[in-house]
Amino acid sequence: MLVIRSAFRGSTRPFSASSSLLFTVAYSSSSSCPSAAAVHAGRTIGEGPRNDWSRDEIKTIYDSPVLDLLFHGAQVHRHAHNFREVQQCTLLSIKTGGCSEDCSYCPQSSRYSTGLKAQKLMTKDDVLQAAQKAKEAGSTRFCMGAAWRDTIGRKTNFNQILEYVKEIREMGMEVCCTLGMLEKQQALELKNAGLTAYNHNLDTSREYYPNIITTRTYDERLKTLEYVRDAGINVCSGGIIGLGEAEEDRVGLLHTLATLPTHPESVPINALIAVTGTPLQDQKPVEIWEMIRMIATARIVMPKAMVRLSAGRVRFSMPEQALCFLAGANSIFTGEKLLTTPNNDFNADQLMFKMLGLIPKAPSFGDDDAKNDAADHCEEAISSSG
Ligand code: SF4
Repeated sequence: MLVIRSAFRGSTRPFSASSSLLFTVAYSSSSSCPSAAAVHAGRTIGEGPRNDWSRDEIKTIYDSPVLDLLFHGAQVHRHAHNFREVQQCTLLSIKTGGCSEDCSYCPQSSRYSTGLKAQKLMTKDDVLQAAQKAKEAGSTRFCMGAAWRDTIGRKTNFNQILEYVKEIREMGMEVCCTLGMLEKQQALELKNAGLTAYNHNLDTSREYYPNIITTRTYDERLKTLEYVRDAGINVCSGGIIGLGEAEEDRVGLLHTLATLPTHPESVPINALIAVTGTPLQDQKPVEIWEMIRMIATARIVMPKAMVRLSAGRVRFSMPEQALCFLAGANSIFTGEKLLTTPNNDFNADQLMFKMLGLIPKAPSFGDDDAKNDAADHCEEAISSSG
């Protein structure tokens, strides 16, 4: 134990070879047959983020004994982040329903009868009021979602959203949008307006993807991520489990994300909320151990990303969520709804932060802020780790 604490004492950033050595020694003394999670977590801690993961490597991590995977996800998490800090994001649907796409999990697609009423883009006053309320409730990131395939031909609406981005950014919040596919020019305009991050999930593996969506391709999704990255906006991209995919597809999703030229800054891990009327309405709920496998594997292969425990959190108890935070999740959505599906109660989240000793992560608007922030909290995190 003493050795492990020593290894982490000087190890927040950058990753150092000496800490890797100590980590390995500490680990080796406790087992003669290290799991892939142990081996790769040690390498991640020693060498820092990698983009050359093979799919087999990620699969062996994912398949490690779950408690070992959780433990090593936690080790990487504590090395790369202040483990007590959890980012609170609020996601608001600013334009609901009536979407032309056929994403099989989505109640907002106009192709499915889910009883959801399509609405127009929310007004500026309503959006800013919601952002203010989210800020007062402790959120540091405000995400705006619109149910569109893309924003081409929506110049008026797009310009309105640029205004919303500017104003919310001026409120001192990070701002994120999820508006469907983007063109290069639109990504640049969003960047100029002050957008912090753009969300565009890959949803699942390339192989399983055509079972879920047919109206846009995997490569189109990757292109949007490229435009976002090139514009200097942080990338938020993850996926959903519980779509009927195999575990191999979950590994495939993580492999695609972990081998992007730069890892996404945020990786949301969603558990399907099966909505009546969608083609996936009868899917069985995701179990907590499936979430833990995804979160811990994501943490080991993308150590610096904010791994977000996203949709489906509402179904997990506080102890189950605690395991997710231990495995490496460090971001959640707060607020009454996640676009159109229910989310955790505000008071229950406040109580959870208190019970688990979590602290809200401050907003960060650039690499320098992030580094300073991490340095400020490093000693506190280490000293409270026991
Ligand atoms: S997930 Fe997005 S793009 Fe797909 S149907 Fe729903 S709103 Fe449309």
